[in-house]
Amino acid sequence: MTSSGSIEEIDFWKLALKIHDLSEIGGKEFESSKLLINILKFHGFKVTERFLNIPTAFKAEKIIGNGKPSVAFLAEYDALPGIGHACGHNLIASSAIFSAIRTTEKISNGTITVFGTPDEEGSGEWAGSKIIMANAKAFKDIDLVLGSHPGDRWDVGDQTLAVQDLEVTFVGRAAHEAANPNIGRSALDAAVLSYNAVNMMRQHVRRDVNFVMHGIIKEGGTASNVTPERAVLTYGIRSSDLEYHKELVTRFMKIVEGCSIATETTFSVKKIGPLFSTTKINRTLSNKVRDNILRRGINCPALEETYSQMPKGSTDFANVSQVVPALEVSFQVAPEGTPWHSRQSLEAAKTQRAREALFNVIEVLSDTAKEFTENKRFREDIIEDFKSS
Ligand SMILES: [Zn+2]
Repeated sequence: MTSSGSIEEIDFWKLALKIHDLSEIGGKEFESSKLLINILKFHGFKVTERFLNIPTAFKAEKIIGNGKPSVAFLAEYDALPGIGHACGHNLIASSAIFSAIRTTEKISNGTITVFGTPDEEGSGEWAGSKIIMANAKAFKDIDLVLGSHPGDRWDVGDQTLAVQDLEVTFVGRAAHEAANPNIGRSALDAAVLSYNAVNMMRQHVRRDVNFVMHGIIKEGGTASNVTPERAVLTYGIRSSDLEYHKELVTRFMKIVEGCSIATETTFSVKKIGPLFSTTKINRTLSNKVRDNILRRGINCPALEETYSQMPKGSTDFANVSQVVPALEVSFQVAPEGTPWHSRQSLEAAKTQRAREALFNVIEVLSDTAKEFTENKRFREDIIEDFKSS
């Protein structure tokens, strides 16, 4: 170890600051993951490095007593390109590692696992690694998954939007725009036409679901006197309803096809990253975590209040919640209204306030995990909720 001292001296806060300093972006979190692995090994966890052949992923496991039931914590440790840990994933890393370690100290039976899940922000090859893991059935032997995310308030039961990012490429025919305009077929025209058609579509969508569609024209030609041969659009299509999301993607594809026919260009559509799902909210679990938050003297709105709010973002944690009972608690490290992915949130992720909140979230999650291992009724109610929602 370097200036931070030996592993035994790295407590939850030193770890959070160290990851904040390392500031490694998605898929390149080599030092951060190594540090987390070393701490877990020191605390007696058996670690599989490069889990599922993802270079900076890992799975760490510690069996206590008879090893049942099984609770997993999800760690994130990727920073945002250009700015650093402005999403506070340094706190998520520490929260997951130390919630797991704390749980092993509190329980007499259970298997405690930490999954190291790279690239939540989706900047690299392993974007949405939790989805890759969920699809690979990595959670099939896990009974409960717990996670956390820092923000500007404490809450449980945040709904998230399904999202699929798409890249559309139109290819036309280049020609001299003055001499041979009749020969040219403009890929840019196809792009502009689709951009406008998508905007027209906004009026004719369901009003009872949240719908967001955001796009840019990434490429639109090379010189004004050459018919644009190639144009590229990227779009994010989001919806609070997973089934309706499929329909929206189908309609988007029709627009692209129609605009390509109209402009006599060809097109191709490529998915960028996997489909992020909506979150499956577990009532029993949410209410229990909220109780554990309130018990520590921290304010936390009722589940109904949080759930009724408009979902703002998307996360790969949502896909995990579709295959196993799971909850990601939000913990407050900055004043309400603080913009995220900003200079303010970058600073907030290493303040004294963050330290206190992190300490509390570790206790909340390990208390919840402990109760899960000890209380059969609680486990059954969670499973019941999972099946019925
Ligand atoms: Zn984040």
